[in-house]
Amino acid sequence: MLDIRNLHARIGDKEIIKGLNLTVPAGEVHAIMGPNGSGKSTLSYVLSGKEDYEVTAGSVMFDGRDLLALTASERAAAGVFLAFQYPVEVPGVANMTFLRAALNAQRRTRGEAEISTPDFLRLIKEKAPPLGISQEMLRRGVNVGFSGGEKKRNEVLQMALLEPKLCILDEADSGLDIDALKVVSEGVNALRSPERSMLVITHYQRLLDHIVPDVIHVMHQGRIVRTGGKELALELEETGYAAYGADAA
Ligand code: ADP
Ligand code: MG
Ligand code: MG
Repeated sequence: MLDIRNLHARIGDKEIIKGLNLTVPAGEVHAIMGPNGSGKSTLSYVLSGKEDYEVTAGSVMFDGRDLLALTASERAAAGVFLAFQYPVEVPGVANMTFLRAALNAQRRTRGEAEISTPDFLRLIKEKAPPLGISQEMLRRGVNVGFSGGEKKRNEVLQMALLEPKLCILDEADSGLDIDALKVVSEGVNALRSPERSMLVITHYQRLLDHIVPDVIHVMHQGRIVRTGGKELALELEETGYAAYGADAA
């Protein structure tokens, strides 16, 4: 599904991704752990095609295509989804309008017809309640006045509607209490499937108690420096990232 080779990327003059290799087969959930500043968010932005991130070397194959040759919208239409570490508030755009626009943008890029109002309402009625997203939250501006947990649940709702092939979750657990963490994790786990891969980025082990990964990678200074099974998370919980020259806090 995803095959990253010798990736180098920078913002301005600063190289942040420095020769990263990573392969995620279809159907697998891979976690990326690592100290703050190791480049985890940068990697997620580079994969989703955010502006200002320049790839200077390497390749990224996604579902048989050259991902780096695609625009951000083309990547989204091809099935790449990024759930933000800090979801943005968009005052003046109702959440419902935004969700429908996202779905239709994906369809248009794929050359498909837009979704009809009844079909969209049916879809929302099916996907929103399990994530605890109320009608009122659908009417409000995107993420406006949402709590940390509500913002993350709203990211998972977008994921459930867009049905991506590759879900990248950047610090899905940041700012969540244990109840919100459970709802978000259940929502993510419900989306696990043999056709879908996930990249779960987290600084902490606790998220991986709820979203149990097939493989864990440790990222440090812009590279994957270690790969192992889920037991690696417990080891890191014990030792922190000190072995990687970083402050565990
Ligand atoms: P992580 O998500 O692992 O905490 P980031 O990808 O956010 O790490 O950051 C990696 C490094 O890149 C950090 O040293 C950070 O200061 C730097 N960085 C991130 N964004 C920018 C930017 N827009 N301009 C310059 N440096 C940046
Ligand atoms: Mg960080
Ligand atoms: Mg980050």
